[in-house]
Amino acid sequence: MKNIGILGGMSLESTLLYCEQANKLINKKLGGLHSPKIVMYTVDFAEIEKLQYSGEWEKAGNVLREAAKSIEAGGADFVIMATNTMHKVAGKIVDGLKIPFIHIGSATAKALLKDKVKTVGLLGTKFTMEEDFYKKVIEEAGIKVVVPNAEDRKIVNSVIYDELCKGKVLESSAQEYQRIINTLKDSGAEAVILGCTEIGMLVKSASLPIYDTTLIHVETAVNEALS
Ligand code: GLU
Repeated sequence: MKNIGILGGMSLESTLLYCEQANKLINKKLGGLHSPKIVMYTVDFAEIEKLQYSGEWEKAGNVLREAAKSIEAGGADFVIMATNTMHKVAGKIVDGLKIPFIHIGSATAKALLKDKVKTVGLLGTKFTMEEDFYKKVIEEAGIKVVVPNAEDRKIVNSVIYDELCKGKVLESSAQEYQRIINTLKDSGAEAVILGCTEIGMLVKSASLPIYDTTLIHVETAVNEALS
């Protein structure tokens, strides 16, 4: 079994889900007491969030590149970064890295292609929903991406930072997310990407098939670890 490198802490709530899910999948595939081999580095999310909101992406990229290098030095065979948003600086992170990096967006695009999804809704942080770095990975696979309107994007974003990243799961927010997913359906989406690694804590099912990036990313990593 290969060593899975996890660059996490963004937030730690979802990194815990990565570990839990990787453990479940490895154990399901190998049985007995088998568990994943993980080399993990978790950052202080407050530092990263501050850099996001002040637009200091270059600096954030440097912090994450150093973290990825530590993971490599720690013996990981490949690395995954447990957040969609910070893939904005994926280029900086892989720069100089010798081990492979599995992009969360590419893994998600593959899952959508496999199911022949042509138009997909995207929920995530405002950076993920509004900027190009993530959408383009899905669109380059020939899949059309629709996002909520400006008011709903604000709601989706604030639930992520003010609640989910702090481990708060509120029924009122779950209902808002369901309403917003319905608007994506009305806009022609055939499925919805939970494009933030914490959203699976809040949305377990919906009026559209869900593509939970946490589960997709972990499954891809586990398959790689066992290949
Ligand atoms: N975990 C989130 C994501 O998947 C949001 C936290 C972050 O900004 O990294 O985008």
